[in-house]
Formats: sequence, C-alpha cells, structure tokens
Amino acid sequence: MPQVGWLTSSRTKVPFDEALAAAEADGEWEGMPFEVLSGIRKQVTADRPDAISVTQTLSCPRKVFLQGTEDYYVSPMDNFATFRGTIVHTMLEDNKTDDGVTEERFTRDHRGIIISGSPDSVRSIDRGRRGDRFLIRDWKSAKALPKYDNAYTNHQQQVNLYRWLLHLDPERTDLEVVYVSMEGVRILRLKPSQVWSDAEVEAFLDRRLMPLQAQRDAGRPVAYYSVEEGDLWQCDYCPVQAICYRKAALEIRDGLLAEPDKVQRVVPRARKKK
Ligand code: SF4
Repeated sequence: MPQVGWLTSSRTKVPFDEALAAAEADGEWEGMPFEVLSGIRKQVTADRPDAISVTQTLSCPRKVFLQGTEDYYVSPMDNFATFRGTIVHTMLEDNKTDDGVTEERFTRDHRGIIISGSPDSVRSIDRGRRGDRFLIRDWKSAKALPKYDNAYTNHQQQVNLYRWLLHLDPERTDLEVVYVSMEGVRILRLKPSQVWSDAEVEAFLDRRLMPLQAQRDAGRPVAYYSVEEGDLWQCDYCPVQAICYRKAALEIRDGLLAEPDKVQRVVPRARKKK
C-alpha cells in the first residue's frame, strides 16, 4: 500500500478523502490549500510501473519495499518537496522542444530483471566541432541551488543509468542535471570523469538491483542491519521510518539468533522521530 493519508500537527492520522473534504469546505486543512493537497495526493498515489525503476535503485531498498506494501501517513509538509518537483515537471511538459522525447518511459533487461526509467528529456544536438551528440537532462527542484560545479552524487548516478537504459554511447552523450529553485536555475553537466561506461553502470546495478529483486521474491524487505551504510542518510527523511524501526527490532532479535555475525547495527534512538 502507498501513502493513504496525512498526519496532523498533533500526529493524528487522517485519510486523504477526509482531509480533502475538510480543505474543500474550509479553504484549507492544516494550513494547506485544497489545490496543493489535491496535487500531492495525485502525485503520491499515481500508478507506478511494475518493473524496478531507476530511482528505486538509488533509494534504500527497504524503504522501496515498505512504501509499496504498508499503509502510511506523513505530514503534508513532508510531501512538499515532491509537490515542488511536480510543478517543475508540469512546466517542462508545457514547454518541451519539438525535437526530442520528454518523460517517456524506457525499459531494459539486466540479468533477467527489467529496469525502467523515464528521463526528463532526451535530444540530439549539433555541437559544431564536437559533432552531433545526445543530450540527456534531468530536472530537480531544490530549496537552494548547488554551490559547487558538480551535480549531487545520486543525480549523477541517475543520468548515467538513463544513458545506459537508452543504449546510448557514453562517448557521444552529454549528461546534465538542471537545478531549479526560487533563486534561479543552474545547469550542471557531468564531467568526463563522472560519466560511467556500460561496465560501470552494470557493476552498480549488480549491487543495487539484486537486493530489490531478492526482497520482491522473498516477500519481505532486506533486514535493517543489511541496508548499505551509504543509504542511511535517507532515514531522517524517510516516510516509513516508524514502520522500519518497529520491524527492525524483531529482525535484530531473530538475526542475532540465526546469523549473529551479520547483525552489526541496531536502531539508533536519535533517528526515531515518528
Ligand atoms: S528508516 Fe532508513 S533504513 Fe529504514 S526504510 Fe527508511 S531509509 Fe531505509
């Protein structure tokens, strides 16, 4: 199950329909206008492809599983970054160029697992002496523009995966991330050292895709203590953190009995917020 409603400021769980009815009648609910709440609900309940997506390979696999199988609630403000992204994508859809593809979904097989992704835009551009080149762009809404000349690491990974998904030649493809904030817009092109070969993409997929598929097959999420250290920064922003930590306590107990060497991590008290 996906998100099914919102939390009030006093942490009461309210189903979407109830909150939207109140917002429509009163003009707002929990300080949010009906239009914003309705846009958020459309976004968070939109149909998702059955295949494993590029963005899922960049996320904590346990979060991917729990978001797909558990009912959960978050505050409307916790959804707001997602809604901000929707605004940017609506602008993109309304103003696309005639010579490329925008937000089209592509799939590719990796070791028998289908992976799908939908780059924001793909075009072929005449770069003069550099010849015709493909340009893949992904757009990101942000509170503030990046201060440095490098796209964030997970955004670099995302556009590299899109390049691979489309079977494009890394030598003939430019990869860019466009950041949009209230301050302005910043285009960051990946440097040659940041562009992955097919072998590098596939090594990444071997590491990231297999746990996603394994937990689908097993019908349970990867154990909390098996989540990669590099994914734990997501915990503070995770919409299923409370569910994850509740289940983790039992997994740790069972893991200590069955495979004590692997249980190297317990649920951190400081990260508990819901
Ligand atoms: S709380 Fe952290 S480990 Fe648990 S599902 Fe969320 S991101 Fe993953």
